[in-house]
Amino acid sequence: MSDIYSDTIVAISTAMAPSGIGIVRLSGPDAIKIADRVYVNPKGKKLSGQNGYTIHYGNVCENGEVIDETLAMLMRAPHSYTGEDTVEFDCHGGVLATKRILEAIVHAGARPAEPGEFSRRAFLNGRIDLTQAEAVMDIIAAKNDHALRSAQHQLKGSVSGKISDIRQKLLHETAHIEAALDDPEHMSLDGYVEDMRQVIMAQRKALERLLESADSGKFMTEGIKTVIVGKPNAGKSSLLNLLIGEEKAIVTDIAGTTRDILEEQINIKGITLRLLDTAGIRDASDVIEKIGVERAKEQVKDADLVLYVVDGSVALDDNDFEIMKLIKDRKFVVILNKNDLSTIVTSEELEQATGTPVISMSAKHSEGIDELEDQIEKMFFHGGISFNDEIYITNVRHKTCIEEAIRSLGLVLQSMDDDMPEDFWSIDLMGACDSLGQITGETTSEDLVNEIFSSFCMGK
Ligand code: GDP
Repeated sequence: MSDIYSDTIVAISTAMAPSGIGIVRLSGPDAIKIADRVYVNPKGKKLSGQNGYTIHYGNVCENGEVIDETLAMLMRAPHSYTGEDTVEFDCHGGVLATKRILEAIVHAGARPAEPGEFSRRAFLNGRIDLTQAEAVMDIIAAKNDHALRSAQHQLKGSVSGKISDIRQKLLHETAHIEAALDDPEHMSLDGYVEDMRQVIMAQRKALERLLESADSGKFMTEGIKTVIVGKPNAGKSSLLNLLIGEEKAIVTDIAGTTRDILEEQINIKGITLRLLDTAGIRDASDVIEKIGVERAKEQVKDADLVLYVVDGSVALDDNDFEIMKLIKDRKFVVILNKNDLSTIVTSEELEQATGTPVISMSAKHSEGIDELEDQIEKMFFHGGISFNDEIYITNVRHKTCIEEAIRSLGLVLQSMDDDMPEDFWSIDLMGACDSLGQITGETTSEDLVNEIFSSFCMGK
């Protein structure tokens, strides 16, 4: 494979924090030659004389001074992540040591890499397509098991395989039309239009199915924005503590908010719930919290999921009915709490009032949590997440391209129905192929490629 780039890049690929190991990576046509300028082997061995996929002990030095011990890992083109000659120096993970090594390698002739530049080279050298490059970043950013597995699937080519398959079928139809238009004496579309319509409709259906997976995909990777609402004393804070107790929560301040709003993340069944405004739940001294309705009004707006907690030992009142009204257009779970006490509110009464099954719980005694988790999984992932035959679209860019392709195919079908000339069909068919090609990178403009890779992290 010919090198697209003539320069060699270098970056610290591990986090800039004290750690067990730090990795400085070089890639490019002169990677091995440059590495040899800083690598000193106790027996005088040179990396340039070694085979790919070998590891060599030594020191990284500059001007005769040892910066750190190293294990140098050698990969020769095209058998590396980037498809180029690559050397990775595994060093002790000190911030200063790795920075000094980076500087020494730059002095020896390499250029500091830009964010995502290794992956960009992998893409431009044809090692991976765009969805796979994006999957690499998704693996790094994965918040839970499902996000990780979905990204791994995508890295193996599940998304690009499916998209390419649809695109090939559409390209075949486009070619057929173009051939008939170019050579009307020998090629005709007579008797073929119905077949073509069937193919286009089937591919549009396949794309619509992929689009349906995008919501689940978003929740899988970004987590489900969840709020807990209910009257004071219903047990919101107890439920929050119970949920958080399941796994240590990550507490984050939400930037740009004037109120003390906290978000805590928990993973249940491999799904991330982002519990919003947890400070508001804990701080019940707020005047507006007195009835629970005002706070609910604010919060429900932003939520993907509402957990509505009802105290079963207190009769339903107007505040409850008001909360029910607020949440009726959202995805919500009704929790009948305090089932360890003698109850006034029954499940049947609450089910009737909310029109949905009720989860009976005791937040205080940790009862009912499994049912709650099952219910949430069912609501968002249609009864479980399976990666065997399902592909989840988790990337907003892919989703937009699929929407575009569906729109273009709609226009093709419309042109067919309206008996428009065949070149109208082919323009929109090409439009659909173009949108799909942007997902895998086959038809992506250089600007877009640059934009995508610039959001990658340094050293990747
Ligand atoms: P919030 O105002 O909605 O956040 O309610 P809290 O979580 O602070 O709970 C109010 C009171 O109800 C506290 O004294 C809790 O200990 C109690 N509580 C919460 N859940 C239960 C439960 O399941 N059973 C019983 N018996 N008490 C509960």
